[in-house]
Amino acid sequence: MSRSLVVTIDGPAGAGKSTVAKRLARQLGYRLLDTGAIYRAVALAARRGGVPWDDGPALARVAAGLPIEFAFVGEVNHVYLAGDDVSAAIRTPEMSGGASQVSAHPEVRTALLDLQRRLAEGGGVVVEGRDTGTVVFPAAGAKFFLTASDRERARRRTLELGDGADLETVLKEMRERDQRDAGRAVAPMVAAQDAVLVDSDGKSLDDVVAEIEAVVRARAGAAAGPE
Ligand code: C5P
Repeated sequence: MSRSLVVTIDGPAGAGKSTVAKRLARQLGYRLLDTGAIYRAVALAARRGGVPWDDGPALARVAAGLPIEFAFVGEVNHVYLAGDDVSAAIRTPEMSGGASQVSAHPEVRTALLDLQRRLAEGGGVVVEGRDTGTVVFPAAGAKFFLTASDRERARRRTLELGDGADLETVLKEMRERDQRDAGRAVAPMVAAQDAVLVDSDGKSLDDVVAEIEAVVRARAGAAAGPE
């Protein structure tokens, strides 16, 4: 018998977290919690409600009452705000920047703690983000910090964005975002002390997922332990 764990995967943009987290969740039969999508949804809800991205207290009110829902439709993890499918609207470069700005406000991060913990209740969930192993789920059963060189991450993101995306522009925006995420005073993007570091440079997706899955299965088995 094995126990259902909370598994956290943190790391910078473009390291492959989303793809790895999704695959891992499917292979383990776990749910998936994309915390970046929550910050993106706060940025979008604020924009729609006329709340500026530099107004921490007003953003915290948006975050506290965020009517967000997730649902898998086939392979795609759809995100809904008050019933409206915002899966595409939260993925624009503008909302990437917006999420990074709103996430730097301590009030916003605090307001989202409850929501994230509620969505992961009962375990059996793969959570991806920046601070999920350090701040949101410090007692998670298995923690990973996924990295890759910034040029490799920018290359992947450029491919994802498709037509018209320019590698150097993507790289520049990514470095700015990394700096903001790693340099902020509250919940900076750092690996938890007890996280397993996984460098995805030069590794296939299958290899990365297999490496992580092996650790999770060992921990879940060990956690169940003899009665
Ligand atoms: O992972 P994704 O690119 O969707 O995240 C968007 C932004 O949300 C990140 O650049 C980061 O600023 C913020 N974020 C965060 N903490 C998390 C997840 C995302 O600050 N746990």
